[in-house]
Amino acid sequence: MSHTIRVTVWNENRHERNPNHPARRVYPEGMHTAIANYLASLPGIETRTATLDEPEHGLTEDVLAATDVLTWWGHVAHAEVQDVVVDRVQARVLNGMGLICLHSAHFSKIFRRLMGTTCNLKWRDVGEKERLWVMEHGHPIVEGLGEYFELPQEEMYGEPFDIPAPDTLVFVSWFQGGEVFRSGCCYTRGQGRIFYFCPGHETYPTYYDQNVLRVIGNAVRWAAPVAEPTRVFGNSKPLEPL
Ligand code: ZN
Repeated sequence: MSHTIRVTVWNENRHERNPNHPARRVYPEGMHTAIANYLASLPGIETRTATLDEPEHGLTEDVLAATDVLTWWGHVAHAEVQDVVVDRVQARVLNGMGLICLHSAHFSKIFRRLMGTTCNLKWRDVGEKERLWVMEHGHPIVEGLGEYFELPQEEMYGEPFDIPAPDTLVFVSWFQGGEVFRSGCCYTRGQGRIFYFCPGHETYPTYYDQNVLRVIGNAVRWAAPVAEPTRVFGNSKPLEPL
């Protein structure tokens, strides 16, 4: 099956609009614009963006119905995301929409809802080096990468990371200060595929890094819905005479 993958890139977009925040210099048009511009350059992908301060956070029923994969970045305003929108996104994931949760989206309402755990972790922001090791060679999300890649400056996220064991652990990160972290985690919930990807603190140019962007693009293709027969539940007639 070959059809265009429709991606909605969602961003809280608060740091970037604050004139006193360093994120504004790194992403003057917002992180969502950097990510969406890259994805739109790939064949077979069309993008739109949505942000927290739009009506219904830009995630109306119509937008979600026309979204194959949703990417999510949030940090300071997780609590402002309306529960009715979280319910709606969760329902779409269970119905087959892919979801890619980036960096501090580990604490988003939608990720915690889908994981069922606190999703807490260790953190430290001093701009240390991160080395992301590929754990699952041959996985579609690591296509085009080497054994590892590095980011010269990132926020440290470290274990323990209070998540359910991933269905597939795609990356483990090492940080210069010594911690390690499960930085690329695949899950399935209902018919939906979910990928958590660690890099992307708002003060570093991570969403211009070619390896990071490649992973996000690969993850979009991996998370896109797959055609499958309608799932039939409930009382069932036997296929053979009983
Ligand atoms: Zn951060």
